[in-house]
Amino acid sequence: MMNEQFKKAVPVLETIEKHGFEAVFVGGSVRDLILGRDIHDVDIATSAVPEEVKRIFPATVDVGIEHGTVIALMGEDAYEITTYRAESEYKDFRKPNEVTFIRSLKEDLQRRDFTMNSIAMTKEGTLIDPFHGKEAIQARVIDTVGKADDRFSEDALRMMRALRFMSQLSFSCSQEVLSSLEKQHHLLRHISTERITAEFEKLLEGENVKQAFSLLLDTGLYLELPRFSDRGDQLRAAGGYDFRHLPGSIEKWAALMVLLTVPEEIDPFLREWKLPVKKIRQIKTVASLAKEAVFDDPYLLVTHGLETMRSAVAVAYFLKHASWEEPLLRLEDMWNRLPVKHSSELAANGNDLIRWSGRKQGPWLRDHLQHLLRLVAEGKLANDKEEIYKEVQRCNPK
Ligand code: ATP
Ligand code: MG
Repeated sequence: MMNEQFKKAVPVLETIEKHGFEAVFVGGSVRDLILGRDIHDVDIATSAVPEEVKRIFPATVDVGIEHGTVIALMGEDAYEITTYRAESEYKDFRKPNEVTFIRSLKEDLQRRDFTMNSIAMTKEGTLIDPFHGKEAIQARVIDTVGKADDRFSEDALRMMRALRFMSQLSFSCSQEVLSSLEKQHHLLRHISTERITAEFEKLLEGENVKQAFSLLLDTGLYLELPRFSDRGDQLRAAGGYDFRHLPGSIEKWAALMVLLTVPEEIDPFLREWKLPVKKIRQIKTVASLAKEAVFDDPYLLVTHGLETMRSAVAVAYFLKHASWEEPLLRLEDMWNRLPVKHSSELAANGNDLIRWSGRKQGPWLRDHLQHLLRLVAEGKLANDKEEIYKEVQRCNPK
């Protein structure tokens, strides 16, 4: 039942075993193998401590040695190898800062969040599944290893993880998980925004995002998310849309912003989510273009570029519950017919304008270049230096 990716990694396990330690495949990759989903990375767990792993492999990279993770390089491939560990002392409903390395696989599996994520597989393909994760996968149920109340109060992020897995895998949550989410969602306020955002972004990207959204509301978990708590009604409305149809993260956030907030608030809103500044800027642009919904203006197209306008078209039509296939074709057609695709392609530049007008640099320059770009984009002026010169003389910018 092993696929190519796992078979290729078998020598990694063999190498570790040759040195007298245990090594198994574990976690998300084993889960996805059982599910028949695409696997991005195979994760390996071992009884060897990081120093031992580093001695076994000639080429390694320290990535999170304090968490027990070392990357071993084997030819073209890199494998994450994590030492069996226990996380016994949880403080303030968060993951502990210190971990204890252990030699027992069973204990390592026990500290994992959900039964579906606590399955190990040997190099022969035998499953080690003390918490019946395979059954949970077959029933498509998210269930905690041990009592949900205990596991969520140990590390409250697991509550967000439950919903993101629900969205990614189209699983449902067990009754116990659901009631624990309702009861303990307030513990999420102890978790750092970065970790919450990482899970929320995966939730947003999932195929079952619609159900995950309604559960976010029904369990009250939304109350703990940045700036969501006073927007229950808007979130309900957002839950009426199937975000899975939007192409990417920028478009999804942009649609969400149009549904949840006013344009001026997008910036502080997303800052609170700690998204990267560049991403916030992109989301803001797409959201406001989608809201204005002007898609037949060649000047707008040339200033924002095809990619951004494509995103805006998708978001605008998505919000109208309409197909954006036709509008995208029209946009591409307009793009193909544009005489210039970027301001830098204009046949005259700022220096030319300064020379021709005899004026000093100033805000007029930018305005005038924009004016020229608009005329050229609209096909009202040829993109030709002489023609542009005549236009500059005609307007005589002051
Ligand atoms: P993905 O396919 O999205 O990477 P994954 O299951 O591999 O899913 P990761 O966040 O990469 O998820 O975590 C790897 C494994 O580590 C999980 O399968 C789980 O066993 C364990 N794990 C991760 N986070 C936690 C947590 N907060 N509490 C307990 N176990 C966790
Ligand atoms: Mg993973």
